[in-house]
Amino acid sequence: MKKFLIVGNWKMNKTISDSLEIIRSLKKTISNADGNIEIVVCPPFTALHTVNGEIKNSNINLGAQNLFWKTEGAFTGEISPLMIKDVGCTYVLIGHSERKQYFGESDNNINKKINAAFSAGLIPILCIGETLEEREKNMTFDVIKKQLTLALSNLTEKSASLVVIAYEPVWAVGTGNIATLDQIQNVHSFIKKTYSKMYKSVIRSARIIYGGSINLNNISNFVGASNVDGILVGSASLEIEVFTKIIEYFM
Ligand code: PEP
Repeated sequence: MKKFLIVGNWKMNKTISDSLEIIRSLKKTISNADGNIEIVVCPPFTALHTVNGEIKNSNINLGAQNLFWKTEGAFTGEISPLMIKDVGCTYVLIGHSERKQYFGESDNNINKKINAAFSAGLIPILCIGETLEEREKNMTFDVIKKQLTLALSNLTEKSASLVVIAYEPVWAVGTGNIATLDQIQNVHSFIKKTYSKMYKSVIRSARIIYGGSINLNNISNFVGASNVDGILVGSASLEIEVFTKIIEYFM
């Protein structure tokens, strides 16, 4: 059975000492979490090493928020998959809507990043989702299909089975406007159908999770929801008490 995946994206927040405080507290409160859930935290690059030191022998995994697709070289300011693996990450977020919005990340580059992540032994968490305008024009499925196809083409079956697909409607990320469970399940089924056409044999193991304005007021919607293999939590993962309570819903 797939474990329910709970990912916390800290975005560009928290110093090293803040991160240490959060992770120590999280480690303590969830030490008795059962084997049905898997927890991943994605701190900023500057805190990865410190957080990795704290999560050894715990049930928390480490993720980065981005990578560059080259292994090394003259790419000032970038971080390679090798470096991310070296610092202790298992996962890496790729194609987050904030990267598309502010840094012009393209679907073609996202595909390079996905392949580079796998080559370094990392598991990519691919973020896809439509804007409000696209939803209102009934383009959601077209957009999802295009993003999925471009980002995840040419994978080996093994890689295809490991990938995590995060459905994150752009209009729901950081806005307080969460998608309804119906909307989420519709898109998740569509992702499943589309992905199974690309990689027939792996659809059972690939995980499809939801992200966008999840907080304590709406988390109960996700408990036991079919077609939702996990959640990606942004702002609410920054408050340790809130994130802990969110996790406790699934313990
Ligand atoms: C995110 O950063 O992926 C996210 C879902 O953010 P938020 O929960 O703040 O909407």
